[in-house]
Amino acid sequence: MKNLISWGMYPKVENRVFDFDQAEELTDIIQENSELIPYGNGRSYGDSAISSHIINLKPKDYFISFDEELGILHIEAGVLLSEILDSFVPRGWFLKVTPGTKLITVGGAIASDVHGKNHHVEGCFSECVEEFRIMVADGSIVACSKIKEPELFRATCGGMGLTGVILDAKISLKKINSQYIDQTTIKTKNLKETFEAFEEYSHLPYSVAWIDCLAKGKNKGKCLLMAGDFRDDGNLKYKNKSGLSIPFTFPSFALNNWSVRAFNWLYYGKAPKGVSKQRVDIDTFFYPLDAIGHWNRIYGKGGFTQYQFIFPKETSYEGLEAILTAISNSGKGSFLAVLKLYGKANDNYLSFPIEGYSLALDFKIEKGLFELLDQLDKLVIQYKGRIYLTKDVRVSKETFEQGYPQIETFREYREKNSMMKKFQSLQSQRVGI
Ligand SMILES: Cc1cc2nc3c(=O)[nH]c(=O)nc-3n(C[C@H](O)[C@H](O)[C@H](O)COP(=O)(O)OP(=O)(O)OC[C@H]3O[C@@H](n4cnc5c(N)ncnc54)[C@H](O)[C@@H]3O)c2cc1C
Repeated sequence: MKNLISWGMYPKVENRVFDFDQAEELTDIIQENSELIPYGNGRSYGDSAISSHIINLKPKDYFISFDEELGILHIEAGVLLSEILDSFVPRGWFLKVTPGTKLITVGGAIASDVHGKNHHVEGCFSECVEEFRIMVADGSIVACSKIKEPELFRATCGGMGLTGVILDAKISLKKINSQYIDQTTIKTKNLKETFEAFEEYSHLPYSVAWIDCLAKGKNKGKCLLMAGDFRDDGNLKYKNKSGLSIPFTFPSFALNNWSVRAFNWLYYGKAPKGVSKQRVDIDTFFYPLDAIGHWNRIYGKGGFTQYQFIFPKETSYEGLEAILTAISNSGKGSFLAVLKLYGKANDNYLSFPIEGYSLALDFKIEKGLFELLDQLDKLVIQYKGRIYLTKDVRVSKETFEQGYPQIETFREYREKNSMMKKFQSLQSQRVGI
């Protein structure tokens, strides 16, 4: 028995982990067991990749082929996005969609239908998936795309590993001609200015804002918005930046309201006033957190969780004001408070993004936290929002259901295809999917 955990380091449960080499071995594993869940690189925060029986996909990391003319890369599901970048940025290719860490597998990217700083332009990861092969509940392999087996495609992209094990995928890459991004940083004084800045810079493909979630009164919602696009200077000398690593788990008192307040003050304070311009490299712009290995350890042994929700555009301003007020009144701060703008939703049954704004907040797991998050859930529902499954570890079935109108279609699809008992995570058991 092992103790595989996710990035939030909570919950810690015993699990039996299955490794496999050939597809036939995986067929046997699937036919002989139930309550199985695929596990990529464990970068989801909560319990979506945790179950009593885990299928380890990380060793499935072969590059199969690359069509230089079409920019289509065929890889196994355990390949990390970082491995794609190492090989392909120097050749002038980049991921069409990438989340805020490159340390995730291609299978994990499809299963969570991840998004990046360019959702308002490019949509979710599934937009760049030409095709994948998946082993389903009876142990057979199905090739699947938006056209071939479209229901399986819609259930799997964002389906959190609950439809089967993705074995490999063909994804399309985008051409770039620099490893640098021209970044504009906008320092705003309140939520109104933050929203105005997002709209003003929405012509740029990438944007993200860090919000000071402890700011109160007239400064509530102040932020640093970073927006940008690739340069065109022919410099493709990509250097993978991996630096410091947190060597041990911090004592849990190290991170508190005061350290968050001090960090926010320094981070916001050091940025120039108004609008400024910088040239930054790929890792600094897209993956700032990856520069510090094991940064999750600063939250202490009890672990942490990320609370990410999204509101439709019409209710975003009022909803965010209400949430930020509740958080600053609670005194529970978050170093990471990231606001993003999103474009149109896709057809996948459980994909998270809808057109609007989403905020992601990291909280140490401690006394009183889940009560605060229950309170925030009520605001999320009141303002017609939803919670992101890949970050979640505690949302109730009722709250989850209210946010996802296609949930019944997803359940029926799983039921009809004998997936219900076969593939389960602690999360799927909790939210009833
Ligand atoms: C620092 C950081 C920043 C992040 N930023 C973003 C962001 O900007 N946007 C965003 O959308 N997400 C973001 N995430 C979340 C992350 O991208 C997702 O949780 C992603 O799914 C993790 O991939 P993984 O390979 O680690 O998968 P795991 O965490 O191991 O698994 C995640 C889910 O995918 C399923 N899965 C994994 N592999 C397979 C497979 N081969 N077949 C079927 N199902 C599979 C699992 O069952 C599970 O449900 C961030 C995470 C971190 C730690």
